[in-house]
Amino acid sequence: MQILKALVAELETPRTNRRFGSGWLSGTGALLAALVSLVAVTVLHWPAMLTTPELRVIGSTSWFRPVLHLILILAYLFAFISIILRDSKLLGFTALSIAVFAALIGGPQSSDTVGIATPAYFGLDFFVLNLLFTGFLFIPIERLAPRIKEQTLFRQEWREDLFYFLVSSLFVQVLAFLTLAPSKIITAVTTMDHIRQAIGSQPIVLQIVEIMLLTDFVQYWVHRVFHRVPFLWKFHAVHHSAKSMDWLAGGRMHFVEIVVLRSMTAIPGMTLGYSLEAIQAYLLIVYIYSSFIHGNLGWNLNSIGPWLVTPRFHHWHHGIDKEAIDVNFAIHFPVYDRLFGTYHLPASAWPTGYGVPEEVPKGYTEQFMYPFRRAK
Ligand SMILES: [Zn+2]
Ligand SMILES: [Zn+2]
Repeated sequence: MQILKALVAELETPRTNRRFGSGWLSGTGALLAALVSLVAVTVLHWPAMLTTPELRVIGSTSWFRPVLHLILILAYLFAFISIILRDSKLLGFTALSIAVFAALIGGPQSSDTVGIATPAYFGLDFFVLNLLFTGFLFIPIERLAPRIKEQTLFRQEWREDLFYFLVSSLFVQVLAFLTLAPSKIITAVTTMDHIRQAIGSQPIVLQIVEIMLLTDFVQYWVHRVFHRVPFLWKFHAVHHSAKSMDWLAGGRMHFVEIVVLRSMTAIPGMTLGYSLEAIQAYLLIVYIYSSFIHGNLGWNLNSIGPWLVTPRFHHWHHGIDKEAIDVNFAIHFPVYDRLFGTYHLPASAWPTGYGVPEEVPKGYTEQFMYPFRRAK
């Protein structure tokens, strides 16, 4: 536990102590590479239980094992660089130990040791791919155009937000099942196959735009209800309790809210006959778009702000200021806020801070229980 605390302190070390050449970047890179290797090796041992069926094919492609080998070598290399450069050897030696362990339990040559097919699975592979993809996309952009320059990747509460990311990725199967249940029921009891066929045969771009428009309309109202009904607000307050905004902060969401929000917003897309490709493209857009609008990104984007949701538009939704209360509910098209009187986007201004006036507890478990506890 003591080591873990020291390790977190190393990661959160101030900018002056992590400049290029201090061994911090190589140490952090080594740690990331070592952890990715360890997860990949673990997943090779228990593919049925730890991978999502859609991604399982990746493990059997010809490039997967060579790439894993390369990542493992990078982990060693960076760990050594960090150990040489840095006064504190903690990052380097921790990364090295994890990398050695990953190699000892089989490394890139690992294979399915359990061999049992389970119907239930955890999306550990999904978590890693998701995190690497969004991280590599947004970390450089946030460095290039930060809204708050002093804010680093390991800012306050980064571990909580990372844990939210982990939970919603691991439980991807449960979430998919719960999310799709209402749509499946609606599709089963309604007969409008000719309409569905017509909708599904439109050009794909048109389908994606329609899904975005319909979904955001539903999202707008569900979101507004979450703000209006006191009991529901307690679930949503968890999302708003984020005091730092960046690409990782958007994932902070109560499990119940994820299920309710996603299942409601899935209804138009899933029941009206849109093609699978259009739905998949939409899901990818939503993933990236959600990270984007929560991002620590300083662009004003005044010309597109009234038409498409920008980081500044959604940052106002998270603002602590009085004028930021109950505004900007849309996540794609501000037109809904303009139509329904909740639009707030003053020229070039940003909120002075983020969060909620009430005291939301810290930590995943406490926040999970928060809506169910009586107010003191
Ligand atoms: Zn909200
Ligand atoms: Zn948000």
